[in-house]
Amino acid sequence: MDIRHYTLTLDVNPSQKTINGSTEIDFNLLKQTNNLLFDFWHGLTISKVWVNGKTQNYSHTPDDLVRISLAQALPEGKVKVKIAYGGKPGIAERAPWLGGFQWEKDSKGNPWIAITCQGEGAKIYFPCKDHPSDEPNEGADMFITVPKGLVVAGPGLLQKVTNKKNKSTYHWKTNYTISNYCILFNVGKYKVAKRIYTTIDGNKVPMEYYVLEENFEKAEQLLDLYEQSARILEKYFGEYPWVKEKIGLVETPHLGMEHQTMIAYGNKYEYEKVGGKDFDWLLHHEFGHEWWANKVTNRDWAHMWIQEGICSFGDEMATRELAGEESYLKSMQRSTIGIKNKFPLVRGNEVDSDSAYHGDIYGKGAFFMHTLRWVLGDDIFFPTLKKLATDAQYTYDNTVTTADVEKLFSGAYGKSLQPLFHLFLYTTDKLEVHIMQTGENKYLVRLLNLDMALPLDVQTDAGTKRMFIDKKGIEVISKTTIQVDPKVYYLKKLIYE
Ligand SMILES: [Zn+2]
Repeated sequence: MDIRHYTLTLDVNPSQKTINGSTEIDFNLLKQTNNLLFDFWHGLTISKVWVNGKTQNYSHTPDDLVRISLAQALPEGKVKVKIAYGGKPGIAERAPWLGGFQWEKDSKGNPWIAITCQGEGAKIYFPCKDHPSDEPNEGADMFITVPKGLVVAGPGLLQKVTNKKNKSTYHWKTNYTISNYCILFNVGKYKVAKRIYTTIDGNKVPMEYYVLEENFEKAEQLLDLYEQSARILEKYFGEYPWVKEKIGLVETPHLGMEHQTMIAYGNKYEYEKVGGKDFDWLLHHEFGHEWWANKVTNRDWAHMWIQEGICSFGDEMATRELAGEESYLKSMQRSTIGIKNKFPLVRGNEVDSDSAYHGDIYGKGAFFMHTLRWVLGDDIFFPTLKKLATDAQYTYDNTVTTADVEKLFSGAYGKSLQPLFHLFLYTTDKLEVHIMQTGENKYLVRLLNLDMALPLDVQTDAGTKRMFIDKKGIEVISKTTIQVDPKVYYLKKLIYE
């Protein structure tokens, strides 16, 4: 099946901590079938299932699957499934890392509700096909009902608020393709701080911050920082991806998450100074995911380093823009300390989200971009990275794998970079550089574990020179002890003899 659209209609009851309503799933069936299968957490109770308007039998099992056995075979073509359900959704144990619902209260005692489910999947609160390879290409509609006085923040654009007795229904709609874990809502006693942002391509997009009433006076400065990050990210990765909707931000009780057109922000306005300017690392990182995760999506969790690693490289670009190239270089050098090299970044072609998700996909992923930048040079590297973020074959409805990234950069380089991608992404090995003294002032420098020539800085008594070094090696003359790659463009092991 190919998922086209989700419609969520849910009544949210903060005092009971329940949700009740239905989800409609529109999809194209690619071949005839007698059975349909969806993901849905077993802790919520299904009351009825319809397929194209007719009720059908189903089973809902402890392994979080809904199996619909059809009375008659369903031919290929458009299908609409509606599932009515309700109950108490699972509580987040440690949001956003261990997700679920958070039924919190703000300092005035108003309900403050958030959902996170990047690891768990959206199946924790609505029935869906829970795999990154199949996003709803025509977007999603959400009709969320809450007690009057509370505000619902969601993806896309707010269509309408309907008040009925003591309840309000917020209709949020996105027409863009969207990851399942971004189809969600936040509830709180929010006010909206707004301005218009003009993108790098001249489009005007509303920038909106759903901020707790009690923090409203802090909103303007946060929007200033949001704009500052927008300028940096657009410079490297191209125009903001969702110009027909909004640049959204919502205050949450958890640290943050990259929810499309409604970034979750919970960093409590704790800014640091970068190059003498205020900077919010959480805001910048989650915003970077609008490009890396939401616009450029990995086809399988196996390639999650693309989302986290390149997004983290975007954080380093903020250092470069605000504090300069030297600060960026220092930051990259410092980052090597945190790289564990316990697991490769890519652990197979298809793996589950738990195996894919480990710390190195951030730091080592970003460092790999730093290495590529050095190998290709800025004139080739930056336009190629921007191409990955803007070319139709990698974005929106299309998804990417590590092989796609490798082919793109190899093409731009004019030579295969496959050995380099293999070493740093598919193994935990470092680049091994052998430095052997062959005479009084003579050295042989060679690579031990890579079948391609790489540019390395070699520092001698005559200064630093960029040299192409391979397994055969290169002879270097120096009266002083030579240094290889002193600025640290590679994760490497130097072996002296
Ligand atoms: Zn991230």
